[in-house]
Formats: sequence, C-alpha cells, structure tokens
Amino acid sequence: MLWDRLDFRQDFKTSSIYDNNRGIYYPETKRSIIFLAPHENVEDIISTAVHETIHSVIDDIDTDGELDEDIEHDIIRKIQWANYSISDDVSDEEAKLTRKFNRAFSKTQV
Ligand SMILES: [Zn+2]
Repeated sequence: MLWDRLDFRQDFKTSSIYDNNRGIYYPETKRSIIFLAPHENVEDIISTAVHETIHSVIDDIDTDGELDEDIEHDIIRKIQWANYSISDDVSDEEAKLTRKFNRAFSKTQV
C-alpha cells in the first residue's frame, strides 16, 4: 500500500564516498542515497533511483532475508528491462538487444 512506503527515503548527493558507486540502500533505516557524480545523464540517475527503490520494495517483501544480493540484482535487472522484454512497442532491434543483454548477463552469473 502506498502509505506503507512513506518510511522509505531517498536522498541525492553530489559526490560518492564509495568511488564510483551510483547508489546505496540501507535496509536498517529504509534510506537510499543516490550519488550524482558517476551518472552520465538524468535518465541514468532515474534508473539508479528506481534500482534503489526496488531494493526497498524487495526488502519489504523478503521479510526472512532469503534473497541474497545477486538474486536481488537479477530481479531488479529483469524489472528494469521488463518493458522491452514484453512490450509490443519494442522494435525488433530493441528486442534483439534485450535478448543479447540478458544472455550476456546470465553468463556472468555464478
Ligand atoms: Zn543494488
């Protein structure tokens, strides 16, 4: 429910204390920080903001803490690419690129 999400907080900082880390989510405080400097453009920043927000949603759902970080990132990646994976509005080229990316990403998983 929307009102349950009000305890999630997202802040933006101009520099990162973690080298090129683009964002971080702290489950203990339900707070995320987006570090602006490593991003290339506004769309990139929005993608990271969504990424960290999904971490908080997964944290709410995974109350037993069964999902490790790799699985969370796999879920987040699939959600972020879902529009391209299932939409009829996606061009053949975009669909091909999505499949290629998914195959490449799957090979990096251990
Ligand atoms: Zn993450």
